[in-house]
Amino acid sequence: MSRISSLARQKVQQLVPYASARLSMSGGSVWLNANENSLATDYELSGQYNRYPDCQPKELISAYAAYAGVETHQVLTSRGADEGIELLIRSFCEPGQDAISICPPTYGMYKISAESQLVDVNIVPLTRDLTLDLPTLFAQQANVKLVFICSPNNPTGDLIPREQIVEVLEFYKDKALVVVDEAYIEFAPEASVVGLLNQYSNLVVLRTLSKAFALAGLRCGFTLAEPSVIAALRQMIAPYPVPAPVAEIAVQALSAQGQQKMRATVSQINSLRDSFSAFATTLSYVSKVYPSKANYVLLSVPDAAALVSFIAEQGVLIRNQSSQLGLGQVVRVSIGSAAEMAQLQQIMSSYSLSPNSEKQESL
Ligand SMILES: *Cc1c(COP(=O)(O)O)cnc(C)c1O
Repeated sequence: MSRISSLARQKVQQLVPYASARLSMSGGSVWLNANENSLATDYELSGQYNRYPDCQPKELISAYAAYAGVETHQVLTSRGADEGIELLIRSFCEPGQDAISICPPTYGMYKISAESQLVDVNIVPLTRDLTLDLPTLFAQQANVKLVFICSPNNPTGDLIPREQIVEVLEFYKDKALVVVDEAYIEFAPEASVVGLLNQYSNLVVLRTLSKAFALAGLRCGFTLAEPSVIAALRQMIAPYPVPAPVAEIAVQALSAQGQQKMRATVSQINSLRDSFSAFATTLSYVSKVYPSKANYVLLSVPDAAALVSFIAEQGVLIRNQSSQLGLGQVVRVSIGSAAEMAQLQQIMSSYSLSPNSEKQESL
């Protein structure tokens, strides 16, 4: 190996990168491991890309502002919500000095983004009933600039109570930004806190087209916040973050027709999720089905790795989430099409009959 790589920052040499579903598992014909939407739509492109795009394409910003019910100067678009997370940390946290707070089990990128920028991470685990541990969160406020709250939470699927989010906003008024990650909010739109933006200048809402809008490959996300926060993020964003074809497709997705399609897939997926949850409770080897408001369901099982590989052998990928703090042996199943769910359910039924799982149960 060339020694030239030793020139990389020490942090880079130590960092454990995010193990995305796409990186950690390959093959399979049915992908239910990345919370994508299987019910895709086709789009049209103009085909002309000789000019640099706008940093914040006007049509896209207006379309998202209208969709989210906010003003255009409260919206920033970026390469996925993931870039929004990174920009927030880069714009608001002093390396080696400031900290973010996270409440695991939750989405993994908050921690990885912070660590890569030498920003400390306060870990305040959720309580047993998966709500925020407010006393601990408030006790660890030294140098905290950002508090990340994911609702619906990934990978548990449930909502963080709105009253708790409001308490955090109140506590951190003028002290820190409270970032509510609403990547899955279309599956439970009534739970959005976007309506609190005008009341709380320290609220930031993250959104994406990757989940309900079925555009994970597009890499298009949004950060909603008060205008001065958006302006701070714009100081740090790349000059041309959103490629022109991405903006073209995103605008189509946000059109009245696009939104109507999205809502149709959401109601289909929500009902497939409820049937899958009901099915999962009938499996003898599933000890807990986490109630979900999103397009995935978390299941407690005796041996997550064994179940994931049994299912993968038959071409269906689901995700082992057992490395998550406080969850034990769990798998996360993204809700796919009706045909995909039927295939998965057949495989999962046969696992309960396999000698292997009987053996695990008796352990
Ligand atoms: C998928 C996901 C994201 C990232 O979304 P992109 O727009 O694809 O970067 C952010 N937060 C949560 C909770 C997610 O599950």
